[in-house]
Amino acid sequence: MKENIRGFIETYVQAYSQRVEINTTYRTPVIAYAAANDPLFQKLQNHRQPEDLLAGAKTVIAYFIPFDEKIVMSNRKKGKSSLGWVHAYIETNLLIESLGKALRNELGKDKVSSFAPPPTHNYDPKTLTSEWSHKHVAYISGLGTFGVHQMLITAAGAGGRIGSTIIDRELDPTPRPAHELCLYKRDGSCLECVAMCTFGALKKDSFDRYLCRDICGTNAERFKKVGPATVCGKCVSAVKCSCYPNDSQNR
Ligand code: SF4
Ligand code: SF4
Repeated sequence: MKENIRGFIETYVQAYSQRVEINTTYRTPVIAYAAANDPLFQKLQNHRQPEDLLAGAKTVIAYFIPFDEKIVMSNRKKGKSSLGWVHAYIETNLLIESLGKALRNELGKDKVSSFAPPPTHNYDPKTLTSEWSHKHVAYISGLGTFGVHQMLITAAGAGGRIGSTIIDRELDPTPRPAHELCLYKRDGSCLECVAMCTFGALKKDSFDRYLCRDICGTNAERFKKVGPATVCGKCVSAVKCSCYPNDSQNR
């Protein structure tokens, strides 16, 4: 079943990017699996459990859809987000939403029930924590490890978007990476993400999520004619872990 899921997601993403109205191109998605009863889910604060969202939940599928390198590089200049990054954010949110529905139909053919939490706008505006955090779920699933920039570094880097789907079929969980994929966490080097955050929200040992939210809000205002883009992404653009995991041989 894992091969079918992989094939379906890859084909769907590829076909989506070829639609005439879509600007964004992607690299190959990375997919990982968690047992729905993994004890790490219980440790997430103010977070829903897989069973809360799907009766009989057995497995969570987490996937990372990496943006094409040229999109990641387009966002390297200081200041406002690039138009390419904004398009990628908006279009990939729509992609994740439609992929969740398509996957549900596909899995339904094998009598598998599923639920795909929405890709965004599912967080508490006061605490800025999410009731279903795709990136934390992806970490539990073994999709990658967290970087200084608070994003997940996967086998295809950190420049992209994460989605997840809960299913009621047991599939073998993916082992979590044995090593940190962030260079700073591994050996104290890099910190390119901190240098990219010229707004002061990201420091090597702290993250001001409210300031980051405000910077993203400024872009949302700037690009409102393009679509809903509460986004910035400088810290995952044109840095060492944007497109590469730093440590693929150790996974
Ligand atoms: S840019 Fe460097 S320090 Fe920052 S998260 Fe990536 S690997 Fe870690
Ligand atoms: S998204 Fe932007 S504001 Fe937020 S930490 Fe990254 S670079 Fe800084």
